[in-house]
Amino acid sequence: MTEMMKAYRIVEWQQQPILTEAPVPTPGPGQVVVEVAGNGLCHSDVGMTQMPGSFGEMLGWKVPFTLGHEVGGRIAALGKGVTGFKEGDPVAVISPRSCGSCRFCANGEDNNCDDSVVGRGYGIDGGLAKYMLVHSTRELVPLRNLDPKIAGPLTDAGATSFHAVKRALKRIRPGGSAVVIGAGGLGAYAIQHLVALTSARIIAVDTSGERLAYASELGAHDVLDGVNPETAADVRNILGGTGADAVFDFVGIDSTIEQGLRSTGKGGAFALVGAGQGALRSGTWFDALPKDGEVFCFQAPTIADTLDVIALADAGRIRVDADFFSLDDVALAYEKMERGELRGRAVVIPD
Ligand code: NAD
Ligand code: ZN
Repeated sequence: MTEMMKAYRIVEWQQQPILTEAPVPTPGPGQVVVEVAGNGLCHSDVGMTQMPGSFGEMLGWKVPFTLGHEVGGRIAALGKGVTGFKEGDPVAVISPRSCGSCRFCANGEDNNCDDSVVGRGYGIDGGLAKYMLVHSTRELVPLRNLDPKIAGPLTDAGATSFHAVKRALKRIRPGGSAVVIGAGGLGAYAIQHLVALTSARIIAVDTSGERLAYASELGAHDVLDGVNPETAADVRNILGGTGADAVFDFVGIDSTIEQGLRSTGKGGAFALVGAGQGALRSGTWFDALPKDGEVFCFQAPTIADTLDVIALADAGRIRVDADFFSLDDVALAYEKMERGELRGRAVVIPD
């Protein structure tokens, strides 16, 4: 008889996920089973629960599947032929899957690998359960000092925001500036990466006072309450009349995209990371995209980004704050995320 475990799963498209049961995975050749120490909750999970089934099926996702794509844990079982790891080793799991042999992977763009479209926690079973199957050791990062319980959020919130910041680095001039719209899970890490990697003046924008207080604690120099039609003017005022070198939008609705683009200065970068499904309009010719700048979007992290962020955290150069929840309280944790009431990333510890 198949052994079962508690798992928080999407069982039917456009229905609330439920705490139910899933089979305990066993590793095939080359595969590994990780005992989940902690799984970070991402705002993308909320979007997935609202996704039309036709879209999910087009992506190749199959219900039911267990949510959770930010996993730290310990090796619980090794499949045939696996080398380099042993039972009990602490690891973080690379969030996007990748094949390792396509031209994207060969170019270090494993985040763009076709395999990344279906992943643990989006289309196949993820980390909101005691055990999770990992398809190859390519997707494991050994941990040194870092507690596997808090490593999960680094693999997506930490690493996706790192990818965006690193991509915009060449646009951020010495003594430059950056705006972070949505200082939640990803945005708070973006602030930390900007502090670690640049001398930029950082402006954080959020609708939650608690998130703005946390952003200041992490090193944001200025904070703006919410996005309104004056936000771009406020940003430009703070910066002495010019736009920002880089603007990161971790919300991605019409108003944040519009104000974010207007806040971006000449030669600057506008990064659309939030999946709020807002429209990106270029406006009229003089009030359009940043002159000689760039706009880039929805991206996920590479393996290299993940290794960098874990190394930064391991060395104590970025903070990893977490609010812990049990599997029974996952729905409550998502509600707190929606209300902007979390301090760190919500991390679920499966029982
Ligand atoms: P989160 O809920 O932790 O953070 C979002 C923050 O935005 C919150 O602090 C919230 O108060 C704030 N906010 C909401 N509306 C706002 C508004 N109108 N103006 C200013 N601030 C506002 O979410 P998260 O987990 O950090 O995810 C952020 C976004 O990034 C989501 O849309 C998620 O789907 C997306 N995401 C994208 C990728 C990717 O690879 N591109 C990866 C992970 C997450
Ligand atoms: Zn590939």
